[in-house]
Amino acid sequence: MMKVGILALQGNVSEHIYMLKRLGVEAVPVKTPLDIMNINGLIIPGGESTTIGRLMERFDLANSIKNRAAEGMPIYGTCAGMILLSKRIRDHEQPSLALLDVTVLRNAFGRQGDSMETDIDIKGFDSPFHAIFIRAPVAVEPGPEVEVLASVPEGIVFLREKKIIASSFHPELGEDLKVHKYFLDIIGN
Ligand code: GLN
Repeated sequence: MMKVGILALQGNVSEHIYMLKRLGVEAVPVKTPLDIMNINGLIIPGGESTTIGRLMERFDLANSIKNRAAEGMPIYGTCAGMILLSKRIRDHEQPSLALLDVTVLRNAFGRQGDSMETDIDIKGFDSPFHAIFIRAPVAVEPGPEVEVLASVPEGIVFLREKKIIASSFHPELGEDLKVHKYFLDIIGN
């Protein structure tokens, strides 16, 4: 049976577990290098990217995650998770896994965008997705391997590079399971 891990250092962990259980897969919190060896896919949740990044290095998880990514394990980062997956973080020094060829801008929606909801069109989805943004980043400057799945005027909010996806928004805080289903389809293939 497919087993998906949620990186459980800080942030929205239980919400992702709940979404995945509704889709009928095993979902477990992960926080050690051994945990990372025993999953078929990983979600890096939203939270505070500097905190998660620091804890990831302290617990020696960054190398384990990078090794599994190199073997082809699918990874999905939401919000802070998107920041942690990006190769370039504008105007900020912080640890990153550097697995997605994009530049990320933190808190890209400014003060009034602290918390914002809007319907977005996602490439390949048959209906708009209700996206919830909380102090969200956007991605810009995508490399040639990056597939842009959704954008807003500020920049890219959903993208894919091979088996790694990232969204600025938080599908785990809404009702729609389609983005999680999209990730499970990548793991299943
Ligand atoms: N603004 C946060 C950061 O830069 C991300 C916010 C979130 O994950 N909801 O890490």
